[in-house]
Amino acid sequence: MFTGIYCRYNGYFVMRRISIFGATGSVGQNTVSIIKRNPSAFDVHAVTGALNIELLAQTAIGLNAKVAVTSESNLLDHLKECLKGTGISAKSGRHALMEVAADPVDVSMSAVVGFAGLELSLEMARHGQTLALANKESLVCGGALLRETCDRAGTKLFPVDSEHSAIFQALNGEKLSDVERIILTASGGPFLHSSFAEMADVTPIQAADHPNWSMGKRISIDSASMFNKAMEVIETKELFNIPSDKIEVIIHPQSIIHSMVGYKDGSIIAQMGPADMCGAIGYALYWPNRTDAGVERLDFATLSKLEFCAVDDSRFPAISIAHSAMKQGGIAGAVFNAAKEQSLDLFLENKIKFLDMADMVAKTVQATATFGNCEASSMDKISKADKWSREFVLNLVEMSE
Ligand code: NAD
Ligand code: MG
Repeated sequence: MFTGIYCRYNGYFVMRRISIFGATGSVGQNTVSIIKRNPSAFDVHAVTGALNIELLAQTAIGLNAKVAVTSESNLLDHLKECLKGTGISAKSGRHALMEVAADPVDVSMSAVVGFAGLELSLEMARHGQTLALANKESLVCGGALLRETCDRAGTKLFPVDSEHSAIFQALNGEKLSDVERIILTASGGPFLHSSFAEMADVTPIQAADHPNWSMGKRISIDSASMFNKAMEVIETKELFNIPSDKIEVIIHPQSIIHSMVGYKDGSIIAQMGPADMCGAIGYALYWPNRTDAGVERLDFATLSKLEFCAVDDSRFPAISIAHSAMKQGGIAGAVFNAAKEQSLDLFLENKIKFLDMADMVAKTVQATATFGNCEASSMDKISKADKWSREFVLNLVEMSE
C-alpha cells in the first residue's frame, strides 16, 4: 500500500521516483537542495526548464537524472552539448514536456510558472501517484478539472504553496465540517507602508524586492500587488473545496505564521516557521514523514513581536477582484489569471504602471460575461478563456494610448 512519498513499509524505507518540472526555478532549485540532502531517498527521472540551459544540465547531472527537457526547441543543441558523455537524454519542446509528464513516477513536482503549468499538471495528475503542486495557476484556472483528474487517477494532490501547506497541516486529523474559517496570512510585500501616490510610480525592480521571501520574479511582483494573495484565495477555495466567504486574509509582516484554520469551537490552529519554502516543499516530498529540509529553527526569545493588520482594499484591490471572479465561477478564474499575467508582462515591459495592473484585471473579469462564461470543464475551454482575456487586456491598453 502506498502510504506516502518516502514510505516506511514494514520498517524499510522505499526510494521514490520523482520528476521535477520547473527544476531551474526558485521552487525547483529548493526541491533540488532537499533531494541532495538525502539522495538515496529519491530516484530522479526527469528535470525540466526553459532558457537557463547550463543550470538545467548542471541540475540533471547533479541529481543523476535520466532525462532533461527544455521547453525551448531552439536550445536543444545547447542542452545536448552540455550533457555530452553523461548518458542523460536531452529533449525539447512542449510535446516533449507533455510526453515526460506522462512517464510513470511516484512524485511529480509541478513548479513551472504561469498558465503553461496547467496542462502539464493535468498530465502529471493522470500518470503520477502524487502531485506536489507549486503551480497555483493550475488551481486558479482549472481547479475542478484538476481535482477531478486526480480523483479519477487516484493521484494524491499536495500543496507546495506555504500557506496551503500550512492549512493542510492545520487540518490534519480534523473534520472539514468543523472548519469555520481559513485565515491566509500575507506579508504585505514591499509597499505595505507606501501611499497610493508612492505606489503609482514604482519600478519592476522595486516591486520584485520582497521583504521576507526569496522567490521567482513574477510571484514576487504579484506579492507586491497582492495578486499573489488573491490567487491564493482562489487556490484555497479550489484545493480544499471551501466556500469563498469562509476565507479571510490578514497582513502579518513577519511571515512567521504561514496560515491558520479556525474551528467552530473558536480554536485556531496555526502553522509557524521561518519564511523558507524548503519547509513546505520538504513536507510535500516526505509526507507522511517529516524531514530536516535545512530550515532554520525559530527562536522565540529573539522574536520580538508578531503583528497583524487588515488589508487596505483601496491600495490592494486584487483580493476583492478575486472574490468577484469566484462569484462568477466557471472560466472566470482562468480569465482572472490570464489578465493578471498579461498585465504583469506589460508592467515588466514598462508599458503600464504598477497600479494599472489591478485596473486591467478588474475590467477584464467584469467583461467575462460578454465572452460567455461557461464551466472550466476542459483544457480547450480554459485555453480559449485564457486567450480571450489576454487579448482583452491588450485591447484595453491600445484603446488608452
Ligand atoms: P521561477 O520563475 O523561479 O521558475 C519557473 C520555472 O518554470 C523555471 O524552471 C522555468 O524555466 C520554467 N518555465 C518558465 N516558463 C516555462 C514554460 N513556458 N514552459 C515550461 N517551463 C517553463 O518561478 P517560481 O518562483 O519557482 O514559481 C514556480 C511556481 O510556484 C509558480 O506557479 C509560483 O506561483 C509557485 N510558487 C512559488 C513560490 C516561490 O517561493 N518561488 C512559492 C509558492 C508558490
Ligand atoms: Mg504562498
